[in-house]
Amino acid sequence: MTARILDGKALAARRRTALAQQVAALPFRPGLRVVRVGDDPASGVYVRNKDRAAREAGLDSETIHLPEATTEAELLAVVHRLNEDPAVDGILVQLPLPPQIRQDAVLDAVDPAKDVDGFHPVNGGALLAGRPGLVPCTPRGVMLLLEEAGVSPRGARAVVLGRSTIVGRPMSLLLLNADATVTTAHSRTRDLAAECRRAEILVCAVGRAELVRGDWVAPGAIVIDVGINRGADGRLVGDVAFAEASAHAGAITPVPGGVGPMTIACLLENTVQAALARRAG
Ligand code: NDP
Repeated sequence: MTARILDGKALAARRRTALAQQVAALPFRPGLRVVRVGDDPASGVYVRNKDRAAREAGLDSETIHLPEATTEAELLAVVHRLNEDPAVDGILVQLPLPPQIRQDAVLDAVDPAKDVDGFHPVNGGALLAGRPGLVPCTPRGVMLLLEEAGVSPRGARAVVLGRSTIVGRPMSLLLLNADATVTTAHSRTRDLAAECRRAEILVCAVGRAELVRGDWVAPGAIVIDVGINRGADGRLVGDVAFAEASAHAGAITPVPGGVGPMTIACLLENTVQAALARRAG
């Protein structure tokens, strides 16, 4: 079997075009503010990509770049100012933050109605309760990729590798809310390979280059690779050994060009969702 490739880049491009049309028809411009603290080069690339994509979609986007030595109180003051600013619909604080700043204190300070990353406990609680809210971008993007591929989670055995608050946990909840039977695996899981082999839908969000081997993948399984890692030769690779897994899977996302572009598309969609919800109520 040779797996079908799930092209996240193409799907994200289509969704961004549709969103730009929706935004152009609005009587206002949804506002996104990305806050970056310090000079981490990887964060710089992510922030620039988000800002460019937001502008292309017609959003009013701005990056606020603060120095590495910014204190927690100074960052909280910026977040509070953005919470109060009526022109701002979405606030994203780029992670990681420098060590003098407590990440939780900052994420908790963002107005849940403007929390387009979906990391505020109020939005996490809504997801847990199966209520509407702002959903973290990467797992939301995975659900859209599954939908596009015609894969229904209902009744399916899904295995999620990873339990971070950013990807793994919300991913498991979204699949559960979509009626999958979900196993969440992590670094303490015994016999990871056996757990993976039971999956009809396998989502890998671990951050270990090519951890998941071909013989961990059940015949015909849908494999979604969230991981972004540098391989030994410097190439970007996922958590899944792509060539090996493709020989077993029914469908698989590539790295790059799979989940990554969907994350950005969903950030833009969350911003428009937040803008419409704030004005509705
Ligand atoms: P974290 O480091 O926060 O979480 C990793 C998870 O994987 C943890 O739950 C950890 O278990 C588990 N884990 C680590 N090692 C193993 C192992 N050997 N076997 C089984 N489980 C293991 O990472 P993130 O969730 O933030 O990100 C995961 C990956 O996804 C990274 O490569 C990241 O770059 C990528 N990513 C990609 C995005 C995209 O847009 N495509 C967006 C966000 C992330 P435990 O809890 O026990 O420690």
